[in-house]
Amino acid sequence: MLCDFVLVDAVRQQKFPCDICGKLFTTKRRKETHIVTHSDVRHIWKCDMCDHTFTRRDNLKRHMKIAHSHTPV
Ligand SMILES: [Zn+2]
Ligand SMILES: [Zn+2]
Repeated sequence: MLCDFVLVDAVRQQKFPCDICGKLFTTKRRKETHIVTHSDVRHIWKCDMCDHTFTRRDNLKRHMKIAHSHTPV
């Protein structure tokens, strides 16, 4: 059926990147299913100075240095 091919092609054009690893997915649902596999996601490090959140403590520490350099290192 020609209609099916058109539908599939339309879906393929949309890309949903994973927020954590950047992997691209063709559907939002696939992406959300994939994100669950990132076990670290359950532990979110939140910056005290702004609304930034990080999945790794290293990234938060680096952010603190760059964005809030007035804080003692
Ligand atoms: Zn990912
Ligand atoms: Zn911050």
